[in-house]
Amino acid sequence: MHELSLCKSILEIINQKVVEINCIRVKKVYLEIGQLAAVEKSALMFSFKVLVQGTVAENADIEFIDVAGMAICQSCGEKVFLNQYYDACQACGAFSLTVIQGEELRVKSMEIE
Ligand SMILES: [Zn+2]
Repeated sequence: MHELSLCKSILEIINQKVVEINCIRVKKVYLEIGQLAAVEKSALMFSFKVLVQGTVAENADIEFIDVAGMAICQSCGEKVFLNQYYDACQACGAFSLTVIQGEELRVKSMEIE
């Protein structure tokens, strides 16, 4: 499952931070999810709950922050919203968009104790 491996890398980041700042409990994790990342939030949430058992992040809540997909058109130079890959440019109709935002999945911040 895609979400499970994603979750493992998220946990690695959390654990790294926890060691760095020496906290005893993670209360909440703010996760930025790009619209283009194709992440199933409920599956991610489920994997997270399973993986954090027995760690400092046990019982931590996840709050998702949606990040819209954006691209720059190589043809007309416009910056446009992108709902999915391989969409045409909304300004000129060309299929020469370079994604600049919306692929991320990252830990934005955490609430800790
Ligand atoms: Zn264009």
